[in-house]
Amino acid sequence: MGVSTCVVLKAMWLAKMLIEAQAILPFLGVIWNLGTDTLKCCTDMGTLTCETKITKRLILAIVQKIFDPMGLLTPATLLPKLLIQHLWKMKIAWDSELSPNDVNVFLKWFRDLYILKDVTLSRCMIINSTSELHVFVDASKEAYAACVFVRSMFKSDVKVVGRTFVWLRESPEYWPLGETPGDSEEVELEMKKLKVVNIDLSRDAPPWHLYAISDYNKMIRVFSWILRFVNNFTLLNGKCKDSELSQSEIENSEKKLIRLVQSYYLPDAKSSNYIETCIDDEGILRVKTKILNRDDERSFLYPILLPEKCELTKLLIRDVHKKNCHAGIQMMQCLLRERYWIIRARKAIKNVLYNCIFCKRFKVKSLSSEPTPLPPDRVTDCAPFEIVGIDLAGPLFLKDGRKVWIKKKLCLLARYTVLFILNLLIP
Ligand SMILES: [Zn+2]
Repeated sequence: MGVSTCVVLKAMWLAKMLIEAQAILPFLGVIWNLGTDTLKCCTDMGTLTCETKITKRLILAIVQKIFDPMGLLTPATLLPKLLIQHLWKMKIAWDSELSPNDVNVFLKWFRDLYILKDVTLSRCMIINSTSELHVFVDASKEAYAACVFVRSMFKSDVKVVGRTFVWLRESPEYWPLGETPGDSEEVELEMKKLKVVNIDLSRDAPPWHLYAISDYNKMIRVFSWILRFVNNFTLLNGKCKDSELSQSEIENSEKKLIRLVQSYYLPDAKSSNYIETCIDDEGILRVKTKILNRDDERSFLYPILLPEKCELTKLLIRDVHKKNCHAGIQMMQCLLRERYWIIRARKAIKNVLYNCIFCKRFKVKSLSSEPTPLPPDRVTDCAPFEIVGIDLAGPLFLKDGRKVWIKKKLCLLARYTVLFILNLLIP
């Protein structure tokens, strides 16, 4: 009998003995039952007495005791983690006593922990041609989860890896069909509410819900889609548009938005003594500047009038600011003036620039420290090279392939420097 055969037989005998003895081995932090070939987590949490003060520190300590490297118990450990998250939001100190409500939530979870002792998972996953993946997902406001089960058929037996719904072990004819009915109240709470927005484009008010968008171009595009929808809806027998937005649609949307903003914020602009205005063919309010005799672009001679405190103006300024590499106030005024006449433009631009995070980063003063006095060796009178500093630089490679270093000798008082070549360090 060869030596290798002996080793194999010994290993088999040992394995048999272990299985017969229902041996339980700690394996990478989890418990491996050799008899049933299953894995489970250690969930011995000890006990809590009536005198135990339930604090944030205690909850965290208990949650961290559950060592679950594979995430088998994640659904169970999620609850205290959410509780800790809630305590952080409430700004509760580490050792403060918790509210009775929070204590009850924690104790209820702690009392149910013993159930985890029975949670086991097959160590061996057998895959064959009949194997199927069954994926279950769920989500709520607090968390979301997904789990995948492998279902394999063996002759007449069905094997499913993981603790799962009992019906998954049955034949597919017996599986539940359709939605599993849930608690209607809970479902109602978690269900996303549909947001219904009414837009009356005939009235003189800008669509306020658009102001939730923080980008000028996006706002214009969203408004274009709304206009497209309205047009398609009012179309009687024509063909609905369903392609990408065209340039003319985007321009039309921008003009419409400007008209709405002007009519809402500047209803009296026409009768103002401050500036002379006129309305162009598209119904947009424009300023009659004093340079009408100049040969220039019409948009420069008749700029669009925009109010100061308006979200559209703010986004427009931010957009121009970003497109022009975070330009300063002066440049922004010139750029915007090419097409627009913003009332109190300087102030409006200043406000936007003040809130620009990117610009703020460059405006902050750099950290400075108090200058410290030089050490005595640098200021004591002495002969040159009486007090020196030595440094070594390199290695450098000479033409013949030798490796050399440079020794730098520095006189600390007079700042003289002498360089030596060292090649003695070659091993
Ligand atoms: Zn900026």
